[in-house]
Amino acid sequence: MRVGVLSVQGAFAEMAAHWRARCAEVFEIRQLADLERAFDLLALPGGESTVQGKLLKDLGLFGPLKAKIDGGLPVYATCAGLILLAEKIDDPGRRDDTRPEMWFGTLPVEVRRNAYGRQLGSFVTVGTFDGKPGVQMTFIRAPAITSVLSPEVKVLSTFNGSPTSVRWRNITAFTWHPELTGCP
Ligand code: GLN
Repeated sequence: MRVGVLSVQGAFAEMAAHWRARCAEVFEIRQLADLERAFDLLALPGGESTVQGKLLKDLGLFGPLKAKIDGGLPVYATCAGLILLAEKIDDPGRRDDTRPEMWFGTLPVEVRRNAYGRQLGSFVTVGTFDGKPGVQMTFIRAPAITSVLSPEVKVLSTFNGSPTSVRWRNITAFTWHPELTGCP
């Protein structure tokens, strides 16, 4: 399997290591020319979604990547990656809707950025992922999924009753960082 890791900002090295450990052939997506290579999965790392969105736009990567995502390319996204994919962001004043080309907006969920606040900005818990108990979940200035906007969205894990990872069509997305613990 060939995995393209969006590598413009954030925790792309950890994401690349995660997929290498799964015997995938990994390459970094930094510029438009990188998209000439064929790949089977797009990995969107954690980081700062506003910065990533702006860079996607400035580097001309946004349109081609959105076309691939909408066309059914499997996507694995954590944290900022989930925010980029979310259809709605419950973050008035922060999301710049005058530049919609920064946000993919395909995944039918609503998210709130930095939902756990500054004090509790980062924490680790253990929960059940896709029916498998005992999975370590690391939240780093994590968003929360505040609503699921389609019955087609499958919730894979929850924290305090709210979804923390979901699968919809070709997209699997996490508010936490599975790539840091190697699981799942
Ligand atoms: N707080 C970041 C954002 O809003 C996401 C944090 C992360 O990716 N770990 O983009």
